Amino acid sequence: IKRRGRGGARYFSEELFAEQKRNFLIAQRLKHAVSYREFSLAFQPIVSARAAQVDSCEVLLRWSTPSIGPVGPDEFISIAEDTGDIVAIGEYVLDTACAAMTSGIISRAVPTVAVNVSLRQLVSQKFSSRVRSILDSHGMPASKLILEVTENIFEDRNREVVAWVLHELSDMGIAVHIDDFGTGYSSLSRLNEMPIAALKIDKSFVQNMSKQETAIIQGSVMIADRFNIETIAEGVETLEQARKLQAMGVTSLQGYFFGKPRPSFGAKEYSEAMSGLRL
Ligand code: C2E
Ligand code: CA
Ligand code: CA
Ligand code: CA
Repeated sequence: IKRRGRGGARYFSEELFAEQKRNFLIAQRLKHAVSYREFSLAFQPIVSARAAQVDSCEVLLRWSTPSIGPVGPDEFISIAEDTGDIVAIGEYVLDTACAAMTSGIISRAVPTVAVNVSLRQLVSQKFSSRVRSILDSHGMPASKLILEVTENIFEDRNREVVAWVLHELSDMGIAVHIDDFGTGYSSLSRLNEMPIAALKIDKSFVQNMSKQETAIIQGSVMIADRFNIETIAEGVETLEQARKLQAMGVTSLQGYFFGKPRPSFGAKEYSEAMSGLRL
């Protein structure tokens, strides 16, 4: 415990206690969140930096529960990963995302939908056959689905299972993208062993494009080109950022500049995203 002057230790432990209490509450409520229909999805466009088209929509999970109010995924996802509830929650997200794709909640002009998947889900029992049956139940071709996984899939202890599952998925025709690229454990040599279709450059590099961040983005684009995979820059908020990224050869762009996450992605949202594209 760190001391922050007189009484600092006590203050700090009270704060810690409050946080633990909140985490405990969240963990408890999360267990019922699927059956109480407390989740919803938000959709955000990913646009092409090379052609006038929307490439995809990313699905972002939203949760609000009566006793706590809205809780952001940055807070509750890691708790759901710890408790294991992420497996059931993840199935709900996949199922609802496929329903959105096939029912027109996501415009039929959008070719693919991108769903975030935690490592814990990826290595859970029969993950790829569960994905297969969800796709089938919606009559959705596998080529319309993208799964976004973070760099922690490259950690040594997961190496074999992860490689196996990713090959199963890509054999089915599902594209796998690496999320938050450049922020975590990144073993570039593993790009060779894994069927990866794109790198998503983390928004922290995009939002502060000074010399170092620019170098990291350029490096990521070079690596991706070498491996013949695409690059998606996230967190694009301004025209200036969009232009710079396009000039650096990034394949696709995502961020508030093109559209915020919204409960549906219809014709109106589509044309909004396209108007951002007239760079
Ligand atoms: P992520 O996958 O990196 O998603 C991008 C986050 O950046 C989203 O936050 C999105 O709303 C936000 N964002 C998009 N454009 C901009 C922009 O221009 N500026 C800024 N400042 N932010 C932007 P969100 O929705 O709060 O999600 C946070 C994280 O929670 C996600 O990061 C992802 O790691 C996780 N997450 C969300 N939904 C799911 C899910 O269904 N399953 C799993 N496993 N994780 C999820
Ligand atoms: Ca993502
Ligand atoms: Ca990301
Ligand atoms: Ca993130």
